[in-house]
Amino acid sequence: MRIDILTLFPGMFDILGGTGIFQRAAEQGLVDIGIHNIRDYSHDKHHVVDDYPYGGGAGMLLKPEPIFEAVEAVRQAVQPPSDTPVILLTPQGCPFRQADAQRLAQHSHLILLCGHYEGVDERVRQHLVTEEISIGDYVLTGGELAAMVVTDAVVRLIPGVLGSEDSPQDDSHSDGLLEYPQYTRPADYRGWPVPEILLSGNHAQIARWRRQQALARTLQRRPDLLQTAELDAKDIQYIEELKSRPDEAE
Ligand code: SAH
Repeated sequence: MRIDILTLFPGMFDILGGTGIFQRAAEQGLVDIGIHNIRDYSHDKHHVVDDYPYGGGAGMLLKPEPIFEAVEAVRQAVQPPSDTPVILLTPQGCPFRQADAQRLAQHSHLILLCGHYEGVDERVRQHLVTEEISIGDYVLTGGELAAMVVTDAVVRLIPGVLGSEDSPQDDSHSDGLLEYPQYTRPADYRGWPVPEILLSGNHAQIARWRRQQALARTLQRRPDLLQTAELDAKDIQYIEELKSRPDEAE
């Protein structure tokens, strides 16, 4: 997969290339991340990329020309498939979820656009961007951290990037539930034992226990997720039992 990121602060992305899993994925050719400075696409001698909003108001907006030209330059250099998403990171976008990460991981190429200051000229949204993503209901100073969040969530789903290809499937949110609790050695730490069932070697019972823990945890912390989670009849029955004895939910 190739991911091209357009930003005014390319240096912020050094952190991506230098960490273990990303570095290995890049070395193995599983992901190729291109960072482009929007400022390189401004033509005046001061490399101006922002301007005052028409109609007045506080703050500066990113001008449309350098952003359009940066995306066009990427398209010309890489020749991405025509369905390549051009994603604007914005607090006004759709809230980013695991299902979006899974959907985006199916593409061979993504283009991410980081805003700054007060945001970007509306024509970028209207005529260049194909989707808008928000990483949460709060406002950041720029889209860089948001682009890194999206990139991280997508890249770890590319087959081969994580040690074992199976591991993302059990993660929280993958099937609409939070993950069950996990323990490693020692079996007893300061008198706090690992649940006995995990030491039993009985895989069917462990799987059942984990499923029930995931259901209980989701019911307790994020009951909203149960509306859309993939549940079978047994799950629904267990949730009803939990609701009838809420004190034992976890
Ligand atoms: N005035 C804008 C906010 C600008 S914040 C508004 O009210 O919508 C500056 C930039 O930071 C944005 O252009 C966007 O790229 C990024 N940003 C801020 N909060 C974000 C969030 N929650 N998710 C994704 N990107 C965000």
